[in-house]
This record gives sequence, structure tokens and C-alpha cells, in this order.
Amino acid sequence: MPDLISLVVPCYNESSAVIYFSETINPVLEKIPNTIWEIIFIDDGSNDDTLHYLMALAEQDSRYRIIELSRNFGKEAAMTAGIDEARGKAIVIMDADLQDPPELIEKMIQQWRQGAEVVVGKRVDRSSDNTLKRVTASWFYAAHNRLSSPKIPNNVGDFRLMDRCVVEALKQLPERQRFMKGLFAWVGFRTVILDYVRVSRSTGCSKFSGFALWNLALEGFTSFSTLPIRIWTYVGSFGAFLALLYGVYIVCRTLLFGNPVPGYSSLFFAVVLLGSVQIMSVGILGEYIGRIYIETKARPIYIVRKLHSKRQTQP
Ligand code: UDP
Ligand code: MG
Repeated sequence: MPDLISLVVPCYNESSAVIYFSETINPVLEKIPNTIWEIIFIDDGSNDDTLHYLMALAEQDSRYRIIELSRNFGKEAAMTAGIDEARGKAIVIMDADLQDPPELIEKMIQQWRQGAEVVVGKRVDRSSDNTLKRVTASWFYAAHNRLSSPKIPNNVGDFRLMDRCVVEALKQLPERQRFMKGLFAWVGFRTVILDYVRVSRSTGCSKFSGFALWNLALEGFTSFSTLPIRIWTYVGSFGAFLALLYGVYIVCRTLLFGNPVPGYSSLFFAVVLLGSVQIMSVGILGEYIGRIYIETKARPIYIVRKLHSKRQTQP
């Protein structure tokens, strides 16, 4: 019996990419022995013709299923929607822009058949990303892995294969704010890493601007580490200890040498420094409390407007 494998592809404004994607991916999937595929596209509230093209694909081919979300929920939520809908024995997640090489899928399946539960693609060459993105990404991985546990492997993106058991584990994680790279690492399982070279987008432009990436990084830190809020206890204690020493010094100096009145600038400096450290730490508390607030509301991660598939209309 061939294995049913699900390919999950989140799409946001990818009208120029989806047809080319399906033309490229079809022959690759057909070549992989002993597999049948379902291809789940998630239209993440695109405001171009993406949905139109996707529905045309689903009209022609019963392997395609389209999840139409009610608005743009972001890539993490779109992937979650796809994972929830997928029925395969294994799931492959892939971007629509062909930056993840389709040829790697066959190798992933081979590794999976040899017993791997997760097979991830690791970008060995990020020259398709600009310097700023490369540098900030390497800072992010370094900082995240120092602060958080479990660690996420460097340059491993969302392009991966997961066995059904991993998918079921992921579905048990109830958080609304989903930093998928962290969640993937958190569930664990036997993981094999395959290297690949990340090419440039087939068409269109990246949906992750500098600020979106910053927010994703913040999500990563706050979802997997409480060190940024705990550290202020130590910073504060150390500051208080220094202040105490300084107080003792001032008392001794006054007793020994009297009380001249210099020190305006050092006082001003200390007030401004401590004031800004306090505001910063309140801000960090705010990041966490904001997330607690969102989690307690327990809103769904995404809303589906409609599921399109040939199979559904012709039972
Ligand atoms: N994407 C999505 N929702 C979003 C942003 C992006 O589903 O809000 C999809 C996008 O269509 C693509 C994938 O996520 O298939 C990766 O996005 P992109 O190529 O823009 O990211 P980059 O490769 O530049 O990191
Ligand atoms: Mg891309």
C-alpha cells in the first residue's frame, strides 16, 4: 500500500508563484515511489488572485485542497491550519516561492522510511538573503539559543517532514501565539538534518519585512524563555548592592573630610540611567503580560472561511 503524504503550503499574496509551484512540484511528487499525495494550500487572507488560482488547481485535481482563511493570520497560524487539516502519515511543510528545493522531498521521504521522525532542511548557503537578514538571523539564533531551552538548530527553517506522531504531539500544544520553529524543537523526536542551498524566490517578494522579523524574534524569545524578565532581579540586586557600597563610602567620606557639594552631573547620570533601566524592565514585563493576556482570551489560532476541494463537492 502506498503511503499518503500531505504537502502543506502556506500562501499569502502568491498569485505569481502558485501555478509555477504546482507545475514544478507535480512531476517531483509523481517520481517518489510508493506515495500518494494530498496538497494542502492555505490561502492566508491574500488580497490578490492567489485564491482564484488555487481554486482552479483544486478544480482540476482532487489531490489539492485549499483552506481559505478569513483574513491574514500570519505564516505560523497558516501552517497550523494546514497541519490540523492534513491526514497523511507524514507531513511536508514548504513555502510557495520554491526557495525550498522540491528535490529534497524525496530524500526526506527516504530518511523517514529509514526511521527518522522529523527530517529538516538546513540552509547551508543563505546568499539569496540580503546581508542585513543574514546577520540579524545569526544574532537571533545565537541570542535565542543562549536564553532559551530547547535550542533551535541554526538556519533550520520551516521546510521539514514530520511523522504523524510528531504532528499529533504538536497538536497538543495549545498556545495561541505560535512560534513554530520553537514548537517544532520543543516536541523533540528523532531528527535528521539535510543540507540544502536556499535559492532566491521564484517570483514576487518576501512577506517578512524587518519589523515582522523583529516581532517573530520577540515571539521566539518570550515563548521559550523567562530569562529576560527574571534577569532584572539580578540586575536590580547588583545595582542595590553597589548603591549600598557607595552609601557607606559617602558616609565615611563625609565623616572624614566634611561635606563639599560637588556631584550634580554624576547624580543626574545615575538618575537617568536607573530611570531608563526601570522603564525598559517594565517594557519587558509588558511583553510577557501582553502575551499572557492574549493566551487567556483563548481565541482560535485561525478562522477558516471555506475549505475547497474536489473531493468535498463530489463525495
Ligand atoms: N506567508 C503566509 N502568511 C504570511 C506571510 C507569508 O502564509 O502572513 C507564506 C508565504 O506565502 C510563503 C511563506 O509563508 O509561502 C514564506 O514567506 P516568504 O517567502 O515571504 O518569507 P521568506 O522566505 O522571505 O522568509
Ligand atoms: Mg521565501
